[in-house]
Amino acid sequence: MASSHTVLMRLVASAYSIAQKAGTIVRRVIAEGDLGIVEKTSATDLQTKADRLVQMSICSSLARKFPKLTIIGEEDLPPEEVDQELIEDGQWEEILKQPCPSQYSAIKEEDLVVWVDPLDGTKEYTEGLLDNVTVLIGIAYEGKAIAGIINQPYYNYQNNEKQKLREHKNEAKAGPDAVLGRTIWGVLGLGAFGFQLKEVPAGKHIITTTRSHSNKLVTDCVSAMNPDDVLRVGGAGNKIIQLIEGKASAYVFASPGCKKWDTCAPEVILHAVGGKLTDIHGNALQYNKEVKHMNSAGVLATLRNYDYYASRVPESVKNALVP
Ligand code: AMP
Ligand code: MG
Ligand code: MG
Repeated sequence: MASSHTVLMRLVASAYSIAQKAGTIVRRVIAEGDLGIVEKTSATDLQTKADRLVQMSICSSLARKFPKLTIIGEEDLPPEEVDQELIEDGQWEEILKQPCPSQYSAIKEEDLVVWVDPLDGTKEYTEGLLDNVTVLIGIAYEGKAIAGIINQPYYNYQNNEKQKLREHKNEAKAGPDAVLGRTIWGVLGLGAFGFQLKEVPAGKHIITTTRSHSNKLVTDCVSAMNPDDVLRVGGAGNKIIQLIEGKASAYVFASPGCKKWDTCAPEVILHAVGGKLTDIHGNALQYNKEVKHMNSAGVLATLRNYDYYASRVPESVKNALVP
């Protein structure tokens, strides 16, 4: 029987359940204790067993239900039979109760591109900075990011110097009643859900930037913004969460390195609450399936006061970063 729901809302509802399953896999790999770390291009570009299993889970689960989608995942994996245990078939009913924005109601499955970062913040994951980690599923239409899902498997988990990786088990929680993990989702024209929107106090300039992939361009750009404080944390998803929860006022990354799967879902959540994410020149990012994966001209994102930060990017930094 044909569903009365639009393709987009069915996809978002399924992706929500799939992202939740992904969060359980991320926690299980830590609990089992064998991360299976592989270096990709360098010692700060890593892949773990969780990156691999989660990508298999997300891509196979989506492809089974939506066979005409274009799905682009971060990890290069050999084709193999996916364990049935990794497949998630559910859909989050609360999302199906929401109206589809009218401009998206006629979208067909084959018109959508899904960008998957199975584990964002892998370097930090391997170092036990577990609350930096997110799972990102971004949905694009006509080159524009229009819907996104972010699972944060260790939301409510308090990282602490004394808690090293080997001690992390499933029972690791902020307190006895705290539920570990959450899922944030959003659709342009509908809104973003699963968190409390908060702004940094007026007049404060708090920059969030990379912890593991810094260089002179990044630090030059950050200093030019005259920040009151600089937070160096892992993950593109994590940094956008800092913007929407009032912990940082701008995400500044004046370097190549970050890819479309890092920005697609986070960008939607930010745009759905009135924020702005561009490259360092102020150009919108494109998400059609043919686009190159690298965000070569970096990332600049804010919830409010975008122009303050954009106007302070040094010309030398702009000239070094070609889109
Ligand atoms: P970060 O802010 O360092 O956590 O980076 C955000 C995202 O971009 C993560 O998925 C990183 O893996 C990726 N990224 C940024 N810079 C690099 C780089 N130089 N090499 C590989 N991945 C990078
Ligand atoms: Mg990533
Ligand atoms: Mg990743």
